[in-house]
Order: sequence, then C-alpha cells, then structure tokens
Amino acid sequence: MTDVKKQPCPVFKKCGGCRYIDIPYEEELKKKEAYVAGLLKPYIKLSGITGMKEPSHYRNKVTAAFGLDRRGVPVSGIYEEKSHHIVKVDSCLLEDRKADEIIVTIRNLLKSFKIKVYDEDTGYGLLRHVLVRVGKTSGQIMVVLVTASPVFPSKQNFCKALRAKHPEITTIVQNINNRTDSLVLSDRENVLYGKGFIEDTLCGKIFKISARSFYQVNPVQTEKLYSKAIEYAGLTGRETILDAYCGIGTIGIIAADKASRVISVELNKDATRDAVTNTKKNGITNLTVYTDDAGAFMEKLAADGAKIDVVFMDPPRQGSSEAFIKSLLILKPAKVVYISCGPDTLARDLKLLTKGGYKVKKAECFDMFPKTDHVETIVSLTR
Ligand code: SAH
Repeated sequence: MTDVKKQPCPVFKKCGGCRYIDIPYEEELKKKEAYVAGLLKPYIKLSGITGMKEPSHYRNKVTAAFGLDRRGVPVSGIYEEKSHHIVKVDSCLLEDRKADEIIVTIRNLLKSFKIKVYDEDTGYGLLRHVLVRVGKTSGQIMVVLVTASPVFPSKQNFCKALRAKHPEITTIVQNINNRTDSLVLSDRENVLYGKGFIEDTLCGKIFKISARSFYQVNPVQTEKLYSKAIEYAGLTGRETILDAYCGIGTIGIIAADKASRVISVELNKDATRDAVTNTKKNGITNLTVYTDDAGAFMEKLAADGAKIDVVFMDPPRQGSSEAFIKSLLILKPAKVVYISCGPDTLARDLKLLTKGGYKVKKAECFDMFPKTDHVETIVSLTR
C-alpha cells in the first residue's frame, strides 16, 4: 500500500473533504474500521476493511462549481467548507486526472467564447457547474455543462473547441438549472454531442449511465463490494431476489444469472430507465424494474404476500425507512444483504432487524472513499 502521508493539496484546509490527508493510509483504514466496529459491536465482530492499492484519483465523477472568487475573478473548483465561496481547484487527489484536466480546459475556453460564469449574488451569468463522468473500463467520458438559462450562444462551436482539445470526450450534455437550492442538476437537459450517456463495465456486465443516475464513484472498490454481496447471498439459482435502492440496476443484474427471478426497485426515474436498458443490454430476461419508493413498494409486496428469498438493500446515507423494514419483517426473506454508506443509520436499522428476528452473520468494510471520512459496510443477515 502506498503511503500518502506527505501528498500535498494546496486547498485541503478550505475544502475539508480529505479528513485523512495527513496520516498514512493504513492508519486511516484502522480508524474507519474501529469506528464501524464500535457501532456494530452489539451485533457482530467486524471482519476487517478492504482498502485500495492506490488510494488516489479514484473518483469517476467530478463536479466543479463555476463562479466568481472573492475578487470577482471567474474560477472553477469547490465550495469552501460551510460557505458559498468557490476555491480554485486545478487538480484534486480524489478525482480522475483526465476529468480535472477537462474542467481546467473549459475554464480556459470561457473567455474566448465570452461565456460568463454564474454569479449567485446577482443571478447574472450562464455557466454554474461542470460535471464529468468517466467510464474507467470503457474510456468513455461525459461532460455536463450546467447553465442557468437554456440560451447558450455558440454552444456548437464551444463543444467543437472542447473536443479538439479532448477527443476522448464521447458525449456533451447541457443541463439547464435555474433553481436556487444546492442541487447541481435539474431535470432539463439537451444533448449537445454524442449519445447523452456513457457505458462502463462492472463484474463482467455492461452498464449505461446517464447524467443524473446514481453510479458508484469508485469502480475498483465497487467490483470488490458487489462480488462480496453476491458471495454473502449464497445463491443457488432458485431464489427470488429483491434488489432495493437498485440505482441503474447493478447488483440485481450481476446476481440475475445466479437466481430464478429478480425484482428491482428504485425511486429515480432516470436510473430505472437506465436499469431497464441495462437489463436488456446484458441479455437478462428474469429481472423486472419498478420505479417506486422502496418502502411503499415493500408494503405492497407484503400486502400481496409475495415470496422473496433474498433482499439486497443499498439505501442512501439516510438509511432505510421504517416502512421498508416493517414490511421486510412481514415478508421474512431468508437472507438480507445490507450495503451501507452510512454506518450510523446502518446500526440504527440493524437494531430493528435484529429485534424482528434476524441475526447478523458477517460484516465487513470496503473503503470506497479513501481520504474522506466516509466508509462502506456490508452486512449479511439471516433469520
Ligand atoms: N444499488 C445501487 C444504488 C445505490 S445508491 C448501486 O450500487 O449503484 C442509493 C439509491 O437509492 C440511489 O439510486 C437513489 O436514487 C435511491 N433512493 C433514494 N431514496 C429512495 C427511496 N426512498 N426508494 C427507492 N430508492 C431510493
């Protein structure tokens, strides 16, 4: 493992993203492991943490804010912690290098195309954010230009100039966002170049990824995590699986060959659209995707008396809902594999699941987010 102790970052104090930038990686892993082990202690002894060989530049999705700095000069970078001042960033230790280069190129092109960055105070200006997504296996790259208004003068020439500098870009999308909250992307988009999405491969399956769909940011660790999830489920080919909070369908699609039937549910419409495409793309015929709140969907399954053998649940940081867990306790699947990016909410949900008759069999961590204070945990439960 590499010692990243003295890797410099000029803005790390202002950014606050890299909590563990100044300690060796081994130590960071120990701290994360100890933290989760403490939370899971009432249920299970944690079986360790899997780190990365190269814990840098792993993020396949990079978002840069565009705006004016304190002196009114156009910049791109990150918001200073707990503020709306943008700190200029050229390269970040967590982010894909090519994505960072593309963002700097965009910043440098603005002047010759007379594109104004958006000013939050006055509401004047066009470009608000740039998001870059990289398919680490496919090499495909998507650039999303988030603008305050649909009117984007000489957009085609701008795209041409950008692609001339970075021919590796496979698609460019304009997202129009005039909202005043902190959401980066709205649901209005125009494809300016290419197909409007990228593809990537995970665990031997191919996935379509749109601008607004959730896709794990660290593909190297995601493969290890998903393989473990499949291992924990111990599939025989006869099971009916529920893949809850399925995103673009990843876990269910990877498990489908080893199961009788897969039911996948996800709230985000763009993600379920991708999940349907991904199911077809991989030639899978035993998987159905539903767009719904996972809790409401579980209530319906429970009311219908559905027979589910294995539940994969991968909720967002807020964890699962009471409605979801209550219905799960009615459905009584033999196995539950819980994938969590929020250790606190995981512990909270495990309390309910163990009270309801489940026993935690195994738990381990995967470091999906080196240098930051986030950590992923996977837990196997049986009745
Ligand atoms: N399993 C997927 C996605 C996990 S991220 C993967 O590994 O890629 C969590 C997902 O839960 C996101 O796609 C998010 O859109 C979805 N989500 C959030 N709240 C939800 C809810 N109430 N019901 C269903 N899905 C939800």
